[in-house]
Amino acid sequence: MSKKLDPVTQAIRIQSPQTSQHEHSTPLYLTSSFTFDEAETMRAAFADESQDNIYSRFSNPNVDEFIAKMCALERAETGFATSTGMSAIFSSMFALLKQGDHLICCSSVFGSTFTIVTKYLPKYGITATLVPVGDNAAWEAAVQPNTKMVYLETPTNPQLEVIDLEWVGRFSKKHNLILNVDNCFATPLLQRPIDFGADLVVHSATKWIDGQGRVLGGIIVGRKDLVKDIYLFCRNTGPAMSPFNAWILSKSLETLDVRMQRHSENALQIAEKLQSNPHVAWVKYPLLPNHPQYEIARKQMKSGGGVFCLEIKGGLEAGRKFLDALELLSVTANLGDTRSIASHPASTTHSRLTDEQRLSVGITPGLIRISTGLEKLEDILSDIEQALEKSAN
Ligand SMILES: *Cc1c(COP(=O)(O)O)cnc(C)c1O
Repeated sequence: MSKKLDPVTQAIRIQSPQTSQHEHSTPLYLTSSFTFDEAETMRAAFADESQDNIYSRFSNPNVDEFIAKMCALERAETGFATSTGMSAIFSSMFALLKQGDHLICCSSVFGSTFTIVTKYLPKYGITATLVPVGDNAAWEAAVQPNTKMVYLETPTNPQLEVIDLEWVGRFSKKHNLILNVDNCFATPLLQRPIDFGADLVVHSATKWIDGQGRVLGGIIVGRKDLVKDIYLFCRNTGPAMSPFNAWILSKSLETLDVRMQRHSENALQIAEKLQSNPHVAWVKYPLLPNHPQYEIARKQMKSGGGVFCLEIKGGLEAGRKFLDALELLSVTANLGDTRSIASHPASTTHSRLTDEQRLSVGITPGLIRISTGLEKLEDILSDIEQALEKSAN
């Protein structure tokens, strides 16, 4: 076809070459390695003179198909897929940073990312400065002569703060820093960091990309020269995505656009309705006008995504009762599923921290995070409403 296809169409139509069976759907290539008819073709593959697959730790047709679709959606030059979101994030840092380098990181990042940045990077002589979202002066003040990379998430988890990608893109360019963005919450359908100057985009494909709570996965896409170094690091250290997970995730990308539209619509409408609920102190969602970075969210996001949070009146005890009263929503340590999920960090994932420690990472006693699924809006809403009612008794 001469016309360049829209990325959404590409995410549906990009496919590994058909086999002699003329299958319509890509088969699963469960093979650890690939054979060569001649010593010469094998030499050429190892010398990087051909694109032939060698070994599934390096590449595999299912994994390549998933990467090609993600590159189309993120408008990225190239990519590498990994076993989990964390291995993508870890590899993007460890492949590109070395002893003596410095990283600027937004202060609210995913828990394990926070641990990598504050515990493991320093162990290898890589220092980091954590800067609060929205404090542009703090970002400027954090720049050192040895700063190499800026790392951030937007919207952040679980507070859903939004970082101005246009501003950070300019900031990173001005100081010649690699801008590395975790785009997990928005997905490329709602927000494309590369359009704002990001050099790398990382994902936990476990969340919205799979979207059905089945497999773990991660991916790094972006600038060719950087991804090449990450690829070589991964090829030797071994965090490759499995062909089976890639097969699942590639299929999932065919429906990501419609899913994200519905997830976002459900989340916005439910968040709006809960604002006037008597048991709710406040509701936070990037596309509610009372969100502190509403204008930025509108500028850089096509819709607000599937996650919103609320503060339940009555704090810790009410939050615990809320979880126990839910009949439809799942209580589980995940998000980005067709099935709606509720979490109450203060009484579960963060219960071992003191109130003060929790507040320092933005977790208030009654904070409830909802990952809005694809069930009928009325069913999700009425389950939340009845659980809120019970939480007050
Ligand atoms: C879940 C998550 C990760 C980690 O991904 P895994 O696939 O669980 O390793 C990283 N960043 C964000 C924003 C996440 O929500």
